[in-house]
Formats: sequence, structure tokens, C-alpha cells
Amino acid sequence: MTDRLYYHDSYLREFRGHVVDSADEGRRVYLDRTAFYPSSGGQPFDMGTLSGVAVREVIDEDGRIAHLLDAPLTSADVEGQIDWSRRFDHMQQHTGQHLLSAVLLDLFDIPTLSFHMGSVSSNIEIGVDGLSPARLDRIEDRCAQIVAEARPVTVAFEDSAADLALRKPSERSGTLRIISIADLDRSACGGTHLKSTAEIGPLFLRKLEKIRGNTRLEFVCGSRAFAHARQDFRVLSEISRLVSVPFEEAAAQVAAQIDKAKTLEKLSQKLAAELAQRQGRELYAAAQPDAEGVRRATERGPIDEAMRARAQAFVAGSKAVFLAVSENPPSILLAASPDSGIRAGDRVKAAVTAAGGRGGGNPGLAQGSVPTAAALEEVVKLLAV
Ligand SMILES: [Zn+2]
Repeated sequence: MTDRLYYHDSYLREFRGHVVDSADEGRRVYLDRTAFYPSSGGQPFDMGTLSGVAVREVIDEDGRIAHLLDAPLTSADVEGQIDWSRRFDHMQQHTGQHLLSAVLLDLFDIPTLSFHMGSVSSNIEIGVDGLSPARLDRIEDRCAQIVAEARPVTVAFEDSAADLALRKPSERSGTLRIISIADLDRSACGGTHLKSTAEIGPLFLRKLEKIRGNTRLEFVCGSRAFAHARQDFRVLSEISRLVSVPFEEAAAQVAAQIDKAKTLEKLSQKLAAELAQRQGRELYAAAQPDAEGVRRATERGPIDEAMRARAQAFVAGSKAVFLAVSENPPSILLAASPDSGIRAGDRVKAAVTAAGGRGGGNPGLAQGSVPTAAALEEVVKLLAV
């Protein structure tokens, strides 16, 4: 069993210990005592160094704590150093979670079902199917009040058989580690916590997400809350600058701009279609009828909406055949008027099949594709006749 120094003192940043076992050629080390917190209960592991060697991960292995190192140690006597900014951040988020969960239960009788601390934000899953903005404000306000009161957060070891009045009953037996926020909360927990609610700093609620009939509530505390607030301000400033209105009007202005863009997009599509139809009619007017009186046009370019509209406008005239050729990807479109004597579907199918491609359609309109540029020119020759 590893003696967990952080159980008694979460503020311990440096310690001395002795290697009692190791594995993986000395890169997995077990000490008699450690201040390194292993991933557990939603809180990620500590980082830092053992005698100057970086600790990459810390794992709880049934009572023993494994330290995964960058390199083997040279001595069995080690000096450990905890990455304090990472640890303190975890303590802020974790103690903030106790506060938030206690306030949720206290104000609205909402239980916390699970906790996860991420590297940017944390979240709890709570047993309720939603929270109104007014409730979210009340929760944040109450948390801020308890932070301002600087209530002591204490650790005690008590017997599970006693009447412990915990927020959430523990399934463990024997001695339990109880974390208390004065006059608010008692929870069984093995994590690292602050000594006063004051150190939590600001606690902001963020995203709400429905999940399996419950709600996932994202929150940030302390330095992370400052970082988020700063980022929010910068993003809002940028949006507000882009739409040239103050913050308060930015959302309405963005909505108006989106509406305007949609209207313009529709108008632009309508005009493009009108232009393509006009081009198709002009091409028809300019084309010279052959000996059978059939007018033909071949256009090269992407086979898109505009090309289709030109083709349809061209073959709206009598005795007309329109061929579109796209090089990337190698493909063709053939349109024919009903009186042209050409059945587009049959012609395309025969031509592209002969060139190793595939395609087809109806007598008036057909499309096909072939594997190569050479095959494409072959198809064009076959269809031009
Ligand atoms: Zn805890």
C-alpha cells in the first residue's frame, strides 16, 4: 500500500520517498509514500518530477500507486515535485464541483450522478431534465455567495458504520475520507481539495446538454473561469466589430445578416438560372442547322446547374441537340429535342459503354462518365456524329 500524502495535505508540493518496486525497465515506479494524485473519481492525475525525471502518468492500482516515468531513476531515494499549477487548477475544479453539487441539492433537490474533469472545462451529470436560465442564475449566485463567505473545507476520517449524513451515501465500508464544506456539504471523496471556498474563485455555469433523460452541466472555476470570460469577451468584441454594432445588438444584427444573405443567395440562384436559359436560347439562335435541319452545340465546362439550364433552353427549340463535356471528372451530358431524331439515353449508354464508362438517361436528357481523358474524347467523337 502506498502512503498517500495528499490525503492529509493537498498543498504538499515537494516530498521525499523511497522506491519499493519498479517495472518496465524502471519506467514504472512504486514508492513507499507519494504526493502524486492518480486519476480517480473524475479528477485527472498529477504531473511533475521524481528526482528531476518527468512523471507522465499516475495510476491507482488497487492500493498501490504507479508513477510512469520518462526515464529510469538513478537512486532509490527520490525527491518528488508536483506540477503545482496543474494540481491547484484541479483542486479549484474539484472543490468547485463539491460546492456546485451541494447547491444544486440544497436549492432544487437535484442530485449529482457523475463528475468528469476535462482539461478545458468540467461537467457533472445531474438528475433533472433541464434547468431554466433563471435557475442557472440562482445556482451561480448561491455559489458566488458561499465562495465570498470563505467557508472552511475540511478533511476527516470517519467510520462508515456511523451516521455520517453524507450528500450521497457511500458504498464503501470501513474508514471513509469525508470532505466537508462548513454548514453545507459532507461527501466521501479521495480527491484533492482546497482549504477554503474562497480559493475556488468564480464559478461559471456553461453549456447544458440533455443526456439519457438527465442533464450534463458544464462548469468552470478559478483561473479557468477567468480564461473563459476573457475569451468570451474577445470573441464578442470581434463579432461586434465585424457587424459594427455594440455587444447588446450583435446577436440581432447577425440574425439580420443571415436573413439578408439567404435572400441574396436565392436571388443569385434565380438570376444565374435566367442567365443560363438566355445563353441557351442565344446559342440556339446562332447555331446553323445541318443537312437534316438539326442544330447542334457542344459546350466544355463543369456539368452544373447552369450547364443543365443552358442545355434545356437549347433543346427547347425544335430539332436541337446539345452536348456538354466536362474534363474533371471526365463526363458528358447529352440533351435532345423530341423531334431531333436522337434518343439521348440510348446514344449516351452506347458511347460511354464502348469507352469503358457508364451512364444513361431518358430520350431527352442523359449523362455518362468515363475513366480517362482519352476515353472522354472518344465518346465526344461518337456523340458528335
Ligand atoms: Zn472531492
